[in-house]
Amino acid sequence: MAWFEKIENPKLKNTKKGSNSGLTGIWKKCTKCQEILSTEKLINNINVCPFCDYHYRISWRERVDLIFDEGSVKVFDSKLQSKDPLEFEDKLNYKERLVKYKNKTRDNESVIRLLGKINDIEVSCAIMNFPFMGGSMGVVCGELIAQTMEYSLEKKVPCLIISASGGARMQEGILSLMQMAKTLSCRKKLRDAAIPYISLLTDPTTGGCAASFSMLGDLNITEPNSLIGFAGPRVIEQSMRQKLPKGFQRSEFLKDHGFVDQVIHRTKLKEKIHYFLNFLS
Ligand SMILES: [Zn+2]
Repeated sequence: MAWFEKIENPKLKNTKKGSNSGLTGIWKKCTKCQEILSTEKLINNINVCPFCDYHYRISWRERVDLIFDEGSVKVFDSKLQSKDPLEFEDKLNYKERLVKYKNKTRDNESVIRLLGKINDIEVSCAIMNFPFMGGSMGVVCGELIAQTMEYSLEKKVPCLIISASGGARMQEGILSLMQMAKTLSCRKKLRDAAIPYISLLTDPTTGGCAASFSMLGDLNITEPNSLIGFAGPRVIEQSMRQKLPKGFQRSEFLKDHGFVDQVIHRTKLKEKIHYFLNFLS
């Protein structure tokens, strides 16, 4: 029997039809400024709107091209597989859902672990893969983040984690929450060994990741207008019964309130990360 059934509001059905989100087709209307953009030009402009600077989400493969030196990246082909300890079932059972996302994304999990160079500095890196179940953190995700940090510790190279996550994976219940403690114990080992750890929080970084390793870099950096927080703004608004301030949980707001160290334009990311790695080393 399913754990719960989603009750659909008939008024909301088919509202996604004709949506402008997603880079398909030749033209696209900018989500923020409503300008008409050529998809090709947008991709050439590293998915940043040339009119209003809106940063669109990019895939982990695009991130690798953006940040790492060409030809320097070695992706670890993880054979780790999520189990289904709760035999969880909603509309689909969990095992089927995993297969569906594997086929859709051509990736095994919500984290990609790799080794690469940023302007000749070797870095152990994990990139969260948001299209795979919303970058949710299950047991495999936690293990890959831990392995990335352990590698840094063993080889004495800096650690970079690029987060994009909707939070813990509900299909793995308490086991997914335990990944917060697991990754934090590795993070502490890095600190004790004085190995630099930079956390890049991209749009969106929420839930269990934001509440653990993503917020605990020696430097926490982000891109403009990224959503970063624990619970979503709508949930907070409903529980507090108060209107939230403008820009709440966006990068610039978080920087003003001391939660992140820098908001960096996508074109400057590589240069800045290299500068920080030099500085911290
Ligand atoms: Zn725009």
